[in-house]
Amino acid sequence: DLPVVAIVGRPNVGKSTLFNRLVGRRQALVADTPGVTRDRKEGLAILRGRHVRLIDTAGLEEAAPDTLFGRMRSSSEGAMVNAALVLFCVDARAGITPADEHFAQWVRRQGRPVLLVANKAEGRSGAASAMEAYALGLGEPVAVSAEHGEGLADLMSEIVEHL
Ligand code: GDP
Ligand code: MG
Repeated sequence: DLPVVAIVGRPNVGKSTLFNRLVGRRQALVADTPGVTRDRKEGLAILRGRHVRLIDTAGLEEAAPDTLFGRMRSSSEGAMVNAALVLFCVDARAGITPADEHFAQWVRRQGRPVLLVANKAEGRSGAASAMEAYALGLGEPVAVSAEHGEGLADLMSEIVEHL
């Protein structure tokens, strides 16, 4: 069995974009339109020669605001149960939101190994804005830009080191 790596985080932080970057063309389902993912997507990712089963948690984008956390939880729960590693994603440009804090607290309680990913950290101010994510108490954030393809080699190394 391949180690499962689950990508979790509130809607719109770039989980699906990161998933597509890491999985490339080897995905089980066709790429969806950003923001309208309905199902959990799985794909084979080969990271530094290591094969992992990557899961993009989704189905949150259409949730009503008052049930957002509940939806985030149920979508992520199944993916996390067997996860060798959880990639907790935040949006470095937006900064840490109450939803991030709430969800991070819950993720911490699951007791799975977590790697904090600060996405949308492209450009000169990217690394600095990513540092705000330290406050989540999930360790040192790995700054990436899934959309621009920055920081992904480092992220792949970090993932493999955590497996
Ligand atoms: P998800 O809801 O967490 O799956 O997020 P998506 O992958 O659907 O992305 C949400 C939005 O953020 C889309 O408009 C993406 O184009 C954008 N996005 C994703 N990654 C990046 C990034 O690295 N930088 C910037 N600036 N935008 C990004
Ligand atoms: Mg998505």
